[in-house]
Amino acid sequence: MGIKGKIAWSFMTDKVSKVLFQASYREMMNLLMAGSGSVEEINRKMKQIGFKVGETLLMDYADRIREHAGEFAEFASTLGLAYKVNSGQEFTKIWVSDDEQTIKFTDANCPICAGVEITDMPGLQYCNIVSGVFDAVMELRGFKADSFQESCKALGDDVCTWTLRKYL
Ligand SMILES: [Zn+2]
Repeated sequence: MGIKGKIAWSFMTDKVSKVLFQASYREMMNLLMAGSGSVEEINRKMKQIGFKVGETLLMDYADRIREHAGEFAEFASTLGLAYKVNSGQEFTKIWVSDDEQTIKFTDANCPICAGVEITDMPGLQYCNIVSGVFDAVMELRGFKADSFQESCKALGDDVCTWTLRKYL
């Protein structure tokens, strides 16, 4: 992260212990696992939690982040910045389709999945909270779009990928 990024970080976000965050997230996931009847239900509930988190984040940062997305493809940069501000690290890769209707965010060092290894719950989207946050931001900014988690390190994939699609 460059000097400019460091300044933005210190101005914009209060830090919280990574261990505290990861441990809290893990226990939230354990609770969802214990109270859900299927992997799909866990994924859906975690995304709903993410949506609520996204509403709060957007409200908190709306005045501070001046560069809101005007076109769908601009979410590639605004959500990239939001991720950096909130996680302290950048996406490994951001990809926008030629027709600008699809955006893929990839993190090879997902802070949520770090140290987590799940082998007995195929289809689980461990860090699906991020998809929910993206859903909230896109909806509250007036876009008809949705997001889903395409790959997940905690489940053995090489990277975590979240895909955003704009409805035609
Ligand atoms: Zn992850």
